[in-house]
Amino acid sequence: MSYSQLDRPVQFLKGVGPKRADALANMGMTSARDLLYHVPRRYDDASTVTPIARLEVGLDATAVGRVRSKGVIPTRRGLRVFQVVMEDDTGMITVAWPGKPWLERKIREGDTLLVTGPVKFFHGRQIHPREFSLLSRSGEGEPDAGTIFVTYPASEEMPQWQLRRIFETNLDELLSWADDDEYFTEGQRSSRGLPTLGEALTALHRPVNISDAEVGRRRLAFDELFFLQLVQAQARRRATEVEEGIRHERSNELIRPLHEALPFDLTTAQSAVLKEIYQDMRSGRRMNRLLQGDVGSGKTVVAVFAMLLAAEGGYQAALVAPTEILAEQHSRRLREWLEPLGLDVVLLTGSLTAPERREALGAIESGQVRIAVGTHSLIQDTVNFARLGLVVVDEQHRFGVRQRMALVEREGLRPDVLVMSATPIPRSLAMTLYGDLDLSVLDELPPGRKPVETVLKTPNDRDSVYAFVEEQLAEGRQAFVVYPLVSESEKVDLLSATEEFERLRQDVFPERRLGLLHGQLKSVEKDAVMRSFLAGELDLVVATTVIEVGIDVANATVLVIEHAERFGLSQLHQLRGRVGRGASESHCIMIAEPGEEALERLKIFRDTSDGFEIARADLRIRGQGDLFGAQQHGRDPVLRFADLMTDEELLIEAQWAARKLVEADPELREPAQRRMRELLESRYRERLEMFGVG
Ligand code: ADP
Ligand code: MG
Repeated sequence: MSYSQLDRPVQFLKGVGPKRADALANMGMTSARDLLYHVPRRYDDASTVTPIARLEVGLDATAVGRVRSKGVIPTRRGLRVFQVVMEDDTGMITVAWPGKPWLERKIREGDTLLVTGPVKFFHGRQIHPREFSLLSRSGEGEPDAGTIFVTYPASEEMPQWQLRRIFETNLDELLSWADDDEYFTEGQRSSRGLPTLGEALTALHRPVNISDAEVGRRRLAFDELFFLQLVQAQARRRATEVEEGIRHERSNELIRPLHEALPFDLTTAQSAVLKEIYQDMRSGRRMNRLLQGDVGSGKTVVAVFAMLLAAEGGYQAALVAPTEILAEQHSRRLREWLEPLGLDVVLLTGSLTAPERREALGAIESGQVRIAVGTHSLIQDTVNFARLGLVVVDEQHRFGVRQRMALVEREGLRPDVLVMSATPIPRSLAMTLYGDLDLSVLDELPPGRKPVETVLKTPNDRDSVYAFVEEQLAEGRQAFVVYPLVSESEKVDLLSATEEFERLRQDVFPERRLGLLHGQLKSVEKDAVMRSFLAGELDLVVATTVIEVGIDVANATVLVIEHAERFGLSQLHQLRGRVGRGASESHCIMIAEPGEEALERLKIFRDTSDGFEIARADLRIRGQGDLFGAQQHGRDPVLRFADLMTDEELLIEAQWAARKLVEADPELREPAQRRMRELLESRYRERLEMFGVG
């Protein structure tokens, strides 16, 4: 690693002694570089800061001023209110923090504060801060008036004003070193309209105006996305290019007859996606593709055509499902379509008898059978395919890249890989999570699909909901009732599946046959319940969210979701996908007593049937951090600067740049890429571990 001043411990900076160095370390900053990359979390300027004289009651505003006086005032209800009088050149206002008397020890007369919150009337104008920061300490220098107020992420031990002091003292020097980390050539940078790192960091710490800071942010956002894509491009290359893939040959001897036999035409989206898949499969590069599409968008048909392409050229194709019961469902469908073409489909599951299993394995090993369906065990150890050319993975949960490749990485095997996901996510998120895969999207449902009628009810409506369910059951239909919890002991104030199952069975639907399904059952038990339901031996299944990973029951037309406010948008959408699989009108009934925030979510869900639109709303509401899941909990966030809602173009550019670079110089050995390689190892590799692409 080439040495830079930025590698020096933060303690060598002016004004940072051991104690402050500790405080900085607790915030994750140990080197000068860390400090330089500690960028503001908000900016305020004349466009956002209101002069105190103009703070009118009813506004929600930000103001900056100096503390003239302060005190703690008791109220009649025993609440202690910390108040200061704050002034700027235009006037004075009271700032009040009800219930926060301890602030008395933090804020001094002469301090400069930035406060944001509603302006109220209470013995005169008062602003009640939702957020505030202490911009400068009394007597420790002035915040530059008339410029931009930057607010850094701060901590208890390292308050805002101290951080700002440290930056004031050291920023010139830090910025003079910033270009040590530049890893792009002049040409690479300017062709993308990106500033140098030095320019970007200067703009971030000392913006001339707020749009200037945005230019800086874009550069750092690009860097994050680029390094992530770089790691994924390397993984993609290893998966697809290191060895020759199979050049599948198309004869149409199977594909054409299936087209003719199907009772429908492919949708435009299906045809477009299939073209991408055929192209991959016929090229010498190994396919590693993700097929995304909402429940019911027709992924299975697409997969079957891909399998036929493999079969036409004499290869075998395997379809891998996450559960036995799903594997059975797939095999039923495949048989229906393929047996008329004279093509055998073998189903390999744990429930085969020993002789059946031996026979199935024999057919696979001899190459006599070209289409196989099973769970993950299908492509593990004991099964030796004669000529495996394609693996289709029906993925319910996201595998890491490494896990996925391990699934298909076998001695001498280089099958093409098609991953199917029924969880719609926005393209930008898919590119980030699955950057090593090529992406195909089915963004169109086959025609004539009736959306599931979705309504929102309150607990008071429960009886009428049950009456409606009973009506449907009387017509021979089936229903699901979903609860957020398995049993009451988990949390007392919520209805739970086990207790409600008893109640529904005894008191509400005594004439009906009910089943219970939850995640604490063994998988054979779960399968047994679903099998009975599928066979029509149960009328109603009480379940937790395990039916998310469920199967198609065409006769199930009602889904009741209790405590709907407890579920996220995407989860609700997955649940709703369990009904509406047949020809009859289906219903999704949410029962909830939502707060305001949940109500917004439930209304979006009620009014939207497009899974991609729901996913975008989910990203907007929950924020991207949440969507990376628990993996990033307690770590440096994977993306600090990039925003997947707004940076899609930047992301596309970053992916393109990374892939192009890796094609030309896979291991970044060229001298021109030395700095990039070093940065990848020192700054990004660990952060990107969660992507499983190491
Ligand atoms: P997914 O696997 O994406 O959930 P499926 O492949 O199970 O979707 O398709 C759902 C249903 O739609 C199936 O019954 C399938 O036969 C049917 N289907 C698929 N493609 C079309 C199409 N282009 N037109 C009409 N029906 C279709
Ligand atoms: Mg399916």
